[in-house]
Amino acid sequence: MDILTNILFGAVGLIAFGLVLRRFVEWIGAPCQFCGSKTNRFRRLDSATQANILDYFVQHERREPDRSGLFICLNCRTVHDDFSGEKGSWDVDTFGCVTFCKVCLARIRGCEPEREVECPQCETKYSWTIHDGSGFRFLMPPRGITIGKRPTSFMMDSR
Ligand SMILES: [Zn+2]
Ligand SMILES: [Zn+2]
Repeated sequence: MDILTNILFGAVGLIAFGLVLRRFVEWIGAPCQFCGSKTNRFRRLDSATQANILDYFVQHERREPDRSGLFICLNCRTVHDDFSGEKGSWDVDTFGCVTFCKVCLARIRGCEPEREVECPQCETKYSWTIHDGSGFRFLMPPRGITIGKRPTSFMMDSR
């Protein structure tokens, strides 16, 4: 085999491995911190449910969420959103209940179910609340706050 063929096979192998790994992670999924059921990715939901969930973000938070950061539990109808920290931390900190402030991006600990939490930095209050329009539960900030930019880099370093 010449060197080019080697490189080609190597590259194809690497891509295939990456795809398999990704599928595997998707298949495992992250457990819901309320009921322990497996959560679903946004794009796996039917379009009516997707529209319901997006309604909340448009109406209450006036923003377009990062859809790949939404994990939805259909068992207890809870949305773990792109700020909730689940995305970056599911493998190391699944039930750590860490979230990120949607206003100032500070890290907030202790967002357990049925608790109201307050951002230690800007004092924005959040509570797990069922949104009337969609019937889903969100970690909800007060209506009308200005949502900051999604904390991508913070999520990589969630501890
Ligand atoms: Zn659940
Ligand atoms: Zn804050």
